[in-house]
Amino acid sequence: MSTFELVNPADATVFETVEHLGIEQVDDAIARAAAAQKRWAGFSPAERADVLRAFASAVDADRENLAQLETRNSGHPVSQSRWEAGHVRDVLTYYSAAPERMLGVQIPVAGGIDVTFHEPLGVVGIITPWNFPMTIASWGFAPALAAGNAVVLKPAEWTPLTSLRLAELGLSAGLPEGLFQVLPGTGPVVGDRFVTNETVRKIVFTGSTAVGKQIMAGCSRQVKRVTLELGGKSANIVFADADLEAAALAAPGAVFENAGQDCCARSRILVERTVYDRFLELLEPAVRGYRVGDPAQESTEMGPLVSAAHLAKVEGYLPGASDATLAFRGTAPDGPGFWFAPTVLTPDRTDRAVTDEIFGPVVSVLPFDDEADAIALANATSYGLSGSLWTNDLGRAIRVSRAVEAGNLSVNSNSSVRYSTPFGGFKQSGLGRELGPDAPLAFTETKNVFLAIPDAS
Ligand code: NAD
Repeated sequence: MSTFELVNPADATVFETVEHLGIEQVDDAIARAAAAQKRWAGFSPAERADVLRAFASAVDADRENLAQLETRNSGHPVSQSRWEAGHVRDVLTYYSAAPERMLGVQIPVAGGIDVTFHEPLGVVGIITPWNFPMTIASWGFAPALAAGNAVVLKPAEWTPLTSLRLAELGLSAGLPEGLFQVLPGTGPVVGDRFVTNETVRKIVFTGSTAVGKQIMAGCSRQVKRVTLELGGKSANIVFADADLEAAALAAPGAVFENAGQDCCARSRILVERTVYDRFLELLEPAVRGYRVGDPAQESTEMGPLVSAAHLAKVEGYLPGASDATLAFRGTAPDGPGFWFAPTVLTPDRTDRAVTDEIFGPVVSVLPFDDEADAIALANATSYGLSGSLWTNDLGRAIRVSRAVEAGNLSVNSNSSVRYSTPFGGFKQSGLGRELGPDAPLAFTETKNVFLAIPDAS
């Protein structure tokens, strides 16, 4: 066990400490989770649904507290934190319907009856990043619990507080003791133990592509199931026929929300060459007007970056440190805290600002020549998570949506996440899908049972 200090990103002060667990404590927790899962399996489907609805109500009642915790721990603007807490409630409510809908099928066969069951896996290990701590946690634990599993969850080192609170709320709502445990600690100790402990039957990992590859390799040793939600470098494609004003007005939010620390951030804006200059003219006031400041203020649109270490990484992409060309910047507060002003670059296609996932409020704007060039440029990345396209041509909207290699696309919108629709990445942005109606099935094994029926004679 060791102690870890939590820092408020808005003023760089230490405001709390948490105990990091060691391997033995993790193993004990996993054993408790396995025992709790047996008790959970003894609940009827309707009883499991009732407890998940009670969990959703407990989150609803605690929304303001969760939001304040997230704002202090992660620096999210409080209006965003409130949305996130409400989203966790909605995810739980949505999946509370699942226990009574885990439908198998009856398959016509000779000599008897054949039916399938969706059996829970047992204990599921969830490893989360620091950028959206509570929402990403809920995308894993809500469908996993609904499908009949126990969950052990390791939050990111910097941002454990809302996940710890959610575990308390689940227990108070009636989840069996040990069924949903949040285990703070480091990736190489607690996260890695989820991978190596054989009682954990599946890993849901959200984080960087580099660590995701290590997790996948580790899981292969036990043929452990794995879902990966990894990095992104998503394109926001603006065609000349689009409503340019609407596209430019929406573009800052699509990349600067959560200070760009968003796997779906549209960090490459691709603009048809004939309207490129006009688009930049429209973008500039929208970027300069983006409200960056105290995350506790209701009107703030963007807060600080999560940590000093992350700020230093993002600063490495400013011109001077790279050969990118600075177009214009917004503003950010001076003084303590991890502040970085929204930044617009106009680099070459091969610049590392265009190819790396910066995970900060930095966007590159690039011109393209025609539809084929736009698609090629959008796909010129090993990532494939999200993207947007802006056009008033319906045929083009469908053609380009089908051609862009990404899991979540929006037309004339930058919205990627709805709890009722599937979410996940192509290529090196991930493996598997979260959310949507099928998510609980990813936490089950299909079992086929044949019942022989003897002939009447
Ligand atoms: P990270 O990979 O550094 O860490 C993610 C989690 O993995 C943390 O909890 C960390 O402690 C843990 N971890 C680190 N090393 C480990 C190991 N060896 N074994 C087991 N666990 C380990 O990522 P981050 O910096 O916290 O998050 C940012 C990244 O997450 C970005 O790349 C972003 O795109 C990605 N992300 C993806 C999605 C998505 O849904 N696709 C969502 C949010 C964030």
